Amino acid sequence: MRPQPTPAKRFPSMLRKGQYGQDPQPVYERFWEKVVIPDNPSDCWIWVGTRDKYGYGQISVGSEADNSQRKMKAHRFSFLLHYGEPSPKKPHVLHHCDNPPCMNPQHLFAGTNSDNQWDKVKKGRHHEQAITHCPQEHPYDEENTILYGGRRYCRACQRKRGRERMRRNRAALRETRGEHAASA
Ligand SMILES: [Zn+2]
Ligand SMILES: [Zn+2]
Repeated sequence: MRPQPTPAKRFPSMLRKGQYGQDPQPVYERFWEKVVIPDNPSDCWIWVGTRDKYGYGQISVGSEADNSQRKMKAHRFSFLLHYGEPSPKKPHVLHHCDNPPCMNPQHLFAGTNSDNQWDKVKKGRHHEQAITHCPQEHPYDEENTILYGGRRYCRACQRKRGRERMRRNRAALRETRGEHAASA
C-alpha cells in the first residue's frame, strides 16, 4: 500500500509556488492547534480560532519577510492541506455540511463559480436574501421560489408572465385568423 502523503511532504511543493511563505511548519501547527476533532471523526471538525463575520475560520499564511502575509479562510487551508490546490475550473472550497467553521476534509469539496453562488443563496448570505418578497409582494418562501443560477425567481410572477404570453399568443392567433378570414 502506498503511504498517504503527509502535510509536511505536501507543503514544499506549495512553497515552490511562493504562496505560503518561507516557514510552513508553524502554519500547519497553528492550524491544528485551532481545530477540535470530535470523538466521532466523521462529525464536523470545529475551528476555534478567529472567525470572520460569516463564521468562517481565518488563518494567516505567508511571511512578513517577503510581504506575502495574508489571511486565508481556514477551511480552504484544510482543503489545501489534505487535497492540494483545487483545479482552476473548481476554485472554490465549499462545505457539504453547510457549517462554515467546519474543517473536516471529508465535508469539503471544490466547486465552480455557480456552485459557490448556490452555496451563498443556501446559506442566506447573499445580499438578495435580505429581500423577503418579490416586487409584486409575493413571498420568497420555499413554495414560491425558483432557484436558478444562484438567484431566486418568484414562481407566482413567472406563472403570471406565462399566462400573459399565452393570452398574447391567442390574441395574435385570433388576429391572424381574422386576417385570413377577411382575405378569403
Ligand atoms: Zn462539517
Ligand atoms: Zn412575484
